[in-house]
Amino acid sequence: MTELIRHWIAGEFDDAAPQRTGEVFDPATGAVAKRVAFAAESDVDSAVAAAAEALKTWRRTSLAKRSNVLFAFRELLNRHKTELAEIITAEHGKVLSDAAGEVQRGLENAEYACGIPNLLRGGFSENASTSVDVHSVRQPVGVVGVISPFNFPAMVPLWFVPNAIACGNTVVLKPSEKDPSAANFIAGLWKEAGLPDGVLNVVHGDKVAVDALLAHPVVKAVSFVGSTPVARHVYETGTGRGKRVQALGGAKNHMVVLPDADLDLAADAAVSAGFGSAGERCMAISAVVAVDPVGDELVAKIAERMAKLNVGDGRRGCDMGPLVTAAHRDRVSSYVDAGLAAGAELVVDGRGVQVDGGEGGFWLGPTLFDHVGTGMSIYTDEIFGPVLSVLRVPGYDAAIEVLNDNPYGNGTAIFTESGGAARQYCEEVEVGMVGVNVPIPVPVSYYSFGGWKDSLFGDAHAYGPDGIQFYTRTKVVTTRWPDPSHGGVDLGFPQST
Ligand code: NAD
Repeated sequence: MTELIRHWIAGEFDDAAPQRTGEVFDPATGAVAKRVAFAAESDVDSAVAAAAEALKTWRRTSLAKRSNVLFAFRELLNRHKTELAEIITAEHGKVLSDAAGEVQRGLENAEYACGIPNLLRGGFSENASTSVDVHSVRQPVGVVGVISPFNFPAMVPLWFVPNAIACGNTVVLKPSEKDPSAANFIAGLWKEAGLPDGVLNVVHGDKVAVDALLAHPVVKAVSFVGSTPVARHVYETGTGRGKRVQALGGAKNHMVVLPDADLDLAADAAVSAGFGSAGERCMAISAVVAVDPVGDELVAKIAERMAKLNVGDGRRGCDMGPLVTAAHRDRVSSYVDAGLAAGAELVVDGRGVQVDGGEGGFWLGPTLFDHVGTGMSIYTDEIFGPVLSVLRVPGYDAAIEVLNDNPYGNGTAIFTESGGAARQYCEEVEVGMVGVNVPIPVPVSYYSFGGWKDSLFGDAHAYGPDGIQFYTRTKVVTTRWPDPSHGGVDLGFPQST
């Protein structure tokens, strides 16, 4: 019988039979590998109740004890990282080395959270007024909902969960239903690390679970990552109900190549950032903006590198794996037809690619379009697959105009040898994360991750200092200890004396 992936509530698997389930595929063979329980509203209620109960003690647990759990979790995650990478590859399809990279970036967020005693330090002002002291503290917001996408089934939960827990909150995590096993594996490691039951709960499912979390009055904050329409829905619904929400959405990331760039470096970067994880990364490069006259040479160099890519089962040492589901592969493939119909030049066609993997796998090879126009759907839409578009522009000003007219603003990169041009780009571009000769500028864990415009709703970026701020409320305490000289009743507004 196919294994059922179950909810994890109050430190154990929920063994009730779910009313609804979904299929979880092995994308490299197309086989249904497992089934996953889809939560009903009542399951979300149980998870939130467990989180609310655990909050009573966890929020008051000392920083020393909390950081002990975090250090233990970090060690366990490090010890089990290969196993976790294998779980990711089996359900997502990305190649093992890429899955290992995802785990490593998640681990770094757990390491950041280990410093929580330092991160939560408040401020103190002695004698703000005569014999009156003022201090500030950061307190947890309460029960937090974390909703994550399919493309980083371990890293995105790890962007949020360690910081939320470290700040004294309790969490209900709703991972993607397409690759849910990584979340349960991580929850097991937390338990082994000594995290009390109920501090982290995992409910699986779809929109029903997400909407139940958004409607639940006990959930005080929501961290979401996914596509822009859903991010907008989560942000508007959650904030409409008085919750604190950070909702990270989709992307269209541009790489600008100036005439003075090292074209070999730029071509390597375009291929790595365009086709790594089969383009299913929110920081993937999907549009190369070639500034005249580099277009012909750059396209030739990119195509030459693409010809060497080996597509296949992520467990077999290939460069690029399958897409996550057949439906997603078909959607991405339909953009190849759309690009051709719109008049773009198809330089490399990934349809019908030879693969080292199962016949029923969800395959689409690396695809390259040249002479793409800004009105074509292959440019305007987030494709989220191995389809790279090259746009040609006459100069720097035209390049920046293309970027800043685009509604997304997640990541971008500029390739140039001119420090002045790069500096100007960093200042002018309306994008949240910028790379200079770095194609995927994902910030390290002690900065924060987030895009601008339709790539992020809310005012807090993910993890790092913004994460600590998002998961805490500040409180300012003004204190006077009476002394024998206190002055009696005074109805005037308090002023410093
Ligand atoms: P998605 O929006 O389909 O799903 C994200 C989460 O929302 C999942 O847990 C899913 O179950 C839930 N969901 C789906 N439809 C819903 C609905 N109608 N109502 C409520 N909840 C719903 O995204 P995905 O396909 O899993 O992930 C890919 C998307 O995520 C891409 O658009 C990618 O750019 C984006 N992404 C963004 C970032 C970022 O940092 N900005 C990072 C990773 C992924």
